Amino acid sequence: MVMIEKACIFNIQKFSIHDGPGIRTVVFFKGCPLKCFWCSNPESQYVKPEKMWDNQKKDFTVVGDYKSMEEVITEVMKDELFYEESGGGVTLSGGEVLYQAEFATELLRRLKEKGIHTASETSGFAKKEVFKKYIEQVDMLYFDVKHHDEMKHKEGTGVSLAPILSNLSYALKEHCHVIVRVPVIPNYNDGVENARAFAVLFNELGIHEVELLPFHQFGEQKYAFLNRAYDLQAIPQLHTEDLVYFKEIFEEQNILCSIR
Ligand code: SF4
Repeated sequence: MVMIEKACIFNIQKFSIHDGPGIRTVVFFKGCPLKCFWCSNPESQYVKPEKMWDNQKKDFTVVGDYKSMEEVITEVMKDELFYEESGGGVTLSGGEVLYQAEFATELLRRLKEKGIHTASETSGFAKKEVFKKYIEQVDMLYFDVKHHDEMKHKEGTGVSLAPILSNLSYALKEHCHVIVRVPVIPNYNDGVENARAFAVLFNELGIHEVELLPFHQFGEQKYAFLNRAYDLQAIPQLHTEDLVYFKEIFEEQNILCSIR
C-alpha cells in the first residue's frame, strides 16, 4: 500500500450507469500491484502521472494528477442531486483502488457520512486488515476473479490468488452485496474446462452472482502511446455470443450469470 496525502487519480467520470445502481461518478485511482497481460488500462498501472505520446500528432497527454481529499469530494458532490434522483452514488475504480487504500477508505467514509451510496471495483489484492477497513465503507463491491488456479493466476497477473480468495471469502461473509466479475481472456481462462472449474470454485465460496467481461481490444492503442509491449495484438475480441457456454455452465450450477 502506498501512503500519500494526496491520491494519484487518472479520471473522474460523470454520469456512469454501468458501475453500480443509478447515475454514478466513477473515480479512477492510478496504481496497481497486478500486471495482467491483457490489461486494457495500462495507463492505470503505475502510481504516478505519466506521459502518453501520440506519435502521429507528435503530442502527448499526461495521465494522472495528485488530488486532495477536498478536491475529489467537491468534484463528486457536484452531482449529488443526480445521485438522489436516480438512486446512484460514487464508485471507486482503478488501476487498483486498494493500492492507495488509506486515501480511498477515508474518501468513502466521508461520502457515506454525507449519505452517498458507495461502490467499488477491486482485484481484492491487499492485506486482510487493509481490505477489512476498506469494505466497511463500501455498500456494493465488484470483485474480479481472473483465474481459478493459483499457478495460472500468478502467470497471468504476477500475483498469488490465495490472498484474493481469502479477501473474497471475508467480503462474502461480512458484506451485503458482492458481485464477482470474471474477465474472460482467450487461451488463458476461457473454454469449457475453465468455466467448470470457476463454477466449482464459486460454489465452494457460496457465490451466487457473476458477471462475465468478454475480452476486448479497447486498450490496444494505449500500449503504443506508452511505448510498452502488448502481447495480445492480433487476438480477436470476444462477444456475448462467444460466452453463452460459460453462462450455461454457471447457471447449471445455480450461479446467476450475466455477460457485460
Ligand atoms: S488488476 Fe486491472 S488495472 Fe490492474 S493490471 Fe489487472 S486489469 Fe490492469
